Amino acid sequence: AYHAGLQALNSEKTEQLFLSVPDEASALAASRAYATHPHLASSKEDFEDAKVILKLFQDEFSITVPEDEPVFSAGTDASRNATLSINKLTAPTAWIDVYYPIMNTPLDRALQIIDENGETIWDADLVEDGDPLDPEAAKYKDYIPTWHGLSRDGDVSGQLVYANYGRKEDYDELVAKGTDFTGKIVLTRYGGIFRGLKIEGAQRLGAAGVLIYSDPRDDGSVTVENGYEPYPAGPARNPTSVQRGSVQFLSLYPGDPTTPGYPAYENATRTDGENIPKIPSLPISWVNAQRLLAEISHDHDARALTGKPSHRTIRLVNHVDDKVMPIWNTMVAIPGHIKDETVLIGCHRDAWVMGAADPTSGTVSLHEVVKGFGTLLRNGWKPTRNVVIASWDAEEYGLVGSTEYTEDFAEWITDNVVTYINLDVSVSGSAWVSAGSPSLAHLIRRTAQDVPHPTDAGRTLWDARTDVGPFTNGSVDAEAAQVYNASHRAQSDSTGIYPLGSGSDFTAFLQRLGIAAMDQSFGETLTDARYHYHSIYDSQRWQEVYADPGFHRHVAVAKQLGLVALRMIDSIVLPLNTTQYALELNEYLDFVLDDAPADIAASVDFAPLRHAFKRLQHASAKHDAEKAAAEKHFRKLLAKLPSRATSVRERWAQRVLALLKGNRDPVREFRKAAKRVQRANDRLKGFEKGFIHEEGIKDREWYRHLIIAPGKWLGYGATPLPSIYDALVYEQNVTLAKHEVKRVEHLLHKMAKALKP
Ligand code: GLU
Ligand code: CA
Ligand code: ZN
Ligand code: ZN
Repeated sequence: AYHAGLQALNSEKTEQLFLSVPDEASALAASRAYATHPHLASSKEDFEDAKVILKLFQDEFSITVPEDEPVFSAGTDASRNATLSINKLTAPTAWIDVYYPIMNTPLDRALQIIDENGETIWDADLVEDGDPLDPEAAKYKDYIPTWHGLSRDGDVSGQLVYANYGRKEDYDELVAKGTDFTGKIVLTRYGGIFRGLKIEGAQRLGAAGVLIYSDPRDDGSVTVENGYEPYPAGPARNPTSVQRGSVQFLSLYPGDPTTPGYPAYENATRTDGENIPKIPSLPISWVNAQRLLAEISHDHDARALTGKPSHRTIRLVNHVDDKVMPIWNTMVAIPGHIKDETVLIGCHRDAWVMGAADPTSGTVSLHEVVKGFGTLLRNGWKPTRNVVIASWDAEEYGLVGSTEYTEDFAEWITDNVVTYINLDVSVSGSAWVSAGSPSLAHLIRRTAQDVPHPTDAGRTLWDARTDVGPFTNGSVDAEAAQVYNASHRAQSDSTGIYPLGSGSDFTAFLQRLGIAAMDQSFGETLTDARYHYHSIYDSQRWQEVYADPGFHRHVAVAKQLGLVALRMIDSIVLPLNTTQYALELNEYLDFVLDDAPADIAASVDFAPLRHAFKRLQHASAKHDAEKAAAEKHFRKLLAKLPSRATSVRERWAQRVLALLKGNRDPVREFRKAAKRVQRANDRLKGFEKGFIHEEGIKDREWYRHLIIAPGKWLGYGATPLPSIYDALVYEQNVTLAKHEVKRVEHLLHKMAKALKP
């Protein structure tokens, strides 16, 4: 029962003991074990690693290893039972869920220049150079070919057109200049938006195929031009490096392409996979891009947005093997006293190649958190709420493992999960950034202020938000810097926490189910060593030399994550700040109106919406008073109870005594106080779910959160009030905008009511 759960409250010593565990040497050893081999989703190495994590859970949480390996095919009784019985557990348990998405692996690829006579005059090698001095980067350089996950199979030829970042504004500009994309091969550079959107934009314009390359203009000040050696000799980008990555149209929905909204069981009924591109694509290196650009122009204008096509024909071959591929989510549950409240922590495990930063740095930080919780358990800690930790698979193909899990257990998650804490890359650079639901902003900030800075005495992790890299020689490209800064535009003025868009495993929890969520990372700045994202060079050596020498940042992230989790797990009233959320809604609307064409916006009356914000703020302020009073009352009675270990018999004796003395029964009072806390927590737990609208967002109905969504043309970046934003900014449709304003208003009024004590 709830009162018994809260009664077992853990002391501050729990936090101190936890913080004493995460350790640099242990993190480094874990990273060396995980990041020195490839672990592509569904590969044999990936399955081995799934079992390594299972063993870590079993060892750290003293789980008796069952005779049969607990590897459960999703949808079977064993798999369903594992999650659905979390509320009845008496001891920790760990297992692996197997889902069956359709994904692909590369067969043969080619990129050629064909001359006027049909002769191939250039045939790209499409292989990264590797590093002879780095044993793994040498050994595995061609192990996972350079291709796009979930790309379309095809063999296409056409003239080449350069389209900058391949953003909506780039395509719009080119179309306005009269560029005809029909049958063209579009060359775009990485950056600004999620790569799948670059292809989606080109496909809409009738292009035949897309190439995406890494441009040194996007490398901040750490370039060869500025005097830095390319990796492995120095911190600049290796010009043969290639960014692999999924190109699924996550703007429609993430997860297995063939089971949108429902779990990818082995025998699932499948659709055609609407979020797979209809045209082929390839990721390429700067070295290869330079050769292609010369086909458009020999002077520097090749990268100007002229729409001028190449004379010669470019041939793009991308043969892939589309098939059902098993993936493995490794899960562990630690039962708490309160049975129907769960804190869920997750990090993906699969990588494109070795992924020392992405995601091994996250896995390593999680490894330290697991060790910390293990130490707590061995010292008698019993969490107040349940803890579930997930090592997700196939994030790289499009958030597949986490999305399928949420689609499988939507109801259980909705009823039980109070917060989802995500980790992906925990270290790829110098600046600490955190994003999350506004209701978590204060908790994130306070915990970051309670964790010491990874290296500087007297500073905190929170201060590391403004840290920059050491490579400050030279200038940065103005346009690229602007794009870089634009992606930092949506930071909340009041808290310094970013809203969550997409690009990692929090998406389904937040955007589809309305679970409050957070994420954090040490990310690269314009003066950090170039991070070779999704490349062979995201290696253990690079991590040790450039991203986190000494592994202090990995440890700082583990401490912060652990503190957030512990405060969520062991609090009386859940530390969710609904008032901050309600206040930020005004900032959100300002943001939308900033981007909306003035004449369109002027035709919509936003006063009732602002009023609905205010009403929610008032209701929330009242609720804040209630939750404070409920906690105070509860603590007072808790202090009065004779002892935490009071047995039922003693309680009855006490009750009889109290009755004889004419007092009220303290145990009954205590139960009532706990009920009051429970009601407050139920309202907090339900808050973010109030933003979910069954009908979802127009044209991308999988996304149902009407306050925050991945930007339709951003992917990674968040768009506040997305249905209103899309109507005003993209569709410029006044009738639709009015309708969307009404839908949000309606939700907010319902939420204000639900918060009433
Ligand atoms: N994080 C991965 C990436 O950026 C997957 C994102 C997605 O497909 O949603 O490539
Ligand atoms: Ca699915
Ligand atoms: Zn990742
Ligand atoms: Zn990734």
